[in-house]
Amino acid sequence: MIEERDVVIVGGGIAGMTAARELRDRDPLILEASDRVGGRIWSKQRGDLALSVGAHMFPPPDSIVGRQVDEFGLEVLPITGSMLNIAMNDRIVVGTRPETFPFKLALSLRGRVSFARAGLKVRKAVAEHEAAVAHRPGDTDATIRLRSMEAGGDVSFGDYLGSLNPEAQRIFQALCNRSSGDLDSITQASMATLFAHVWDSGDLGRNMRGGSGLLPEALGRDLAAHIRLHTTVTRVSLTGTGVDIEYTGPDGAGTVRARTAILALPAPFIPALLGTALPGETAAALDRVTIGPTTVLSVLTDETDPMPWDDIYSLLTPDCRFNMFFNHSNALHATGAPKQGSLLMVYGGGGRARALAGMSEAEMERAFLDDLYRLYPQTRGHIAETWLMPWQYAVPHATPGRWRVQETLERGIADRVFLAGDWVGEFGAMETAASTGVDAAASVTRVLDAGAGS
Ligand SMILES: Cc1cc2nc3c(=O)[nH]c(=O)nc-3n(C[C@H](O)[C@H](O)[C@H](O)COP(=O)(O)OP(=O)(O)OC[C@H]3O[C@@H](n4cnc5c(N)ncnc54)[C@H](O)[C@@H]3O)c2cc1C
Repeated sequence: MIEERDVVIVGGGIAGMTAARELRDRDPLILEASDRVGGRIWSKQRGDLALSVGAHMFPPPDSIVGRQVDEFGLEVLPITGSMLNIAMNDRIVVGTRPETFPFKLALSLRGRVSFARAGLKVRKAVAEHEAAVAHRPGDTDATIRLRSMEAGGDVSFGDYLGSLNPEAQRIFQALCNRSSGDLDSITQASMATLFAHVWDSGDLGRNMRGGSGLLPEALGRDLAAHIRLHTTVTRVSLTGTGVDIEYTGPDGAGTVRARTAILALPAPFIPALLGTALPGETAAALDRVTIGPTTVLSVLTDETDPMPWDDIYSLLTPDCRFNMFFNHSNALHATGAPKQGSLLMVYGGGGRARALAGMSEAEMERAFLDDLYRLYPQTRGHIAETWLMPWQYAVPHATPGRWRVQETLERGIADRVFLAGDWVGEFGAMETAASTGVDAAASVTRVLDAGAGS
């Protein structure tokens, strides 16, 4: 006999689990391929610290994710270290205003001029972004989102900046890699959103004591009766009035017949699930979604003495095979207890991740550790534990024209299959993913309520 449900959710990341909580009274079923929930929020606790290969900066308390953190009694601590730092040409410039970088970095004269000019353009792009997202009468979240993606959404960041001196180019390429993109792929709009977030929000975000993964673990326990792990969805077909979801699980293959479904898995997996049932317009829209790769190395060190990275939260590293260095321990260490090592993370996104593609995981780790030793020789001899994760689909970023398919993605398919995930929104972050889960759940509720009344 075929199992029947009001709603099936494919994917147990933060988007799918947030949608399930909104729909709890409809007895939702989450089908999750892996042996754990949480997707790209993944950490392994080590006391107050945690090795972490995914999301690490949490949004403010007054947000969907912030309220979840609060509800489960989890502890997030404001990030305390400096965030805007650059290590380049053997000099690390720490704790400065962004506009002073061209003067403080060890750059050639041409490099300085080019970087300063590009910096002015970035300021202009951020101002345009801020004007676009400013609230106007009659605005909904969707209209603000669309304006944010549209302002500078038809041009790549590289084309927007124009010709750059090679040193300035290296800096901006490393910045684009932070979003798993590259200068010639990511839009001006995407980068303006990132700069506005890091520069002007005045909010550096929070880290979770014990690791980000504690949140999906708590959500998973809360939803345990609704989740099937080790269950990979293989086919999604539209029936006369509903949707059939075929899967393979621990007990073999099966089908659930649902009135509605939420696809909360990365966009690139969706066309194969629907095959010819996918409307052409949705297929074209999904094709415009780009989720770039990022290779992450989480590093636990065991030093007890002060280290030069103690006051740093993040560092741009244009000269390394990774483009970002993070110290996740500074906020979490602030307990007055003696120092027991540090929790560092380095990652290489976009072209940097692709450049590692032919290597084994051991070779990728070696490459990152070699660069880490060059950046901070003090780490040598103090590496206690590492965890490497080469994400093929790490963080979504908008490529030119992506904003034009936004309404199609938000509409879903045939008024019964809805899409959720960070890639449906404008900024690849857990709060975006959670908000798309809330939106998809609202669409499901509308459809189910309409069906109940007919
Ligand atoms: C290195 C890195 C750093 C990041 N840093 C931050 C940060 O500091 N702050 C922040 O807010 N965000 C950050 N992010 C982004 C954040 O992790 C994501 O935006 C968010 O976790 C996405 O959640 P999601 O539910 O949309 O997708 P996912 O977490 O990818 O969940 C999708 C789920 O679908 C499952 N699935 C896939 N295929 C199938 C199938 N066929 N059948 C069943 N299940 C399937 C997957 O196993 C997965 O569990 C970071 C991401 C990365 C990779």
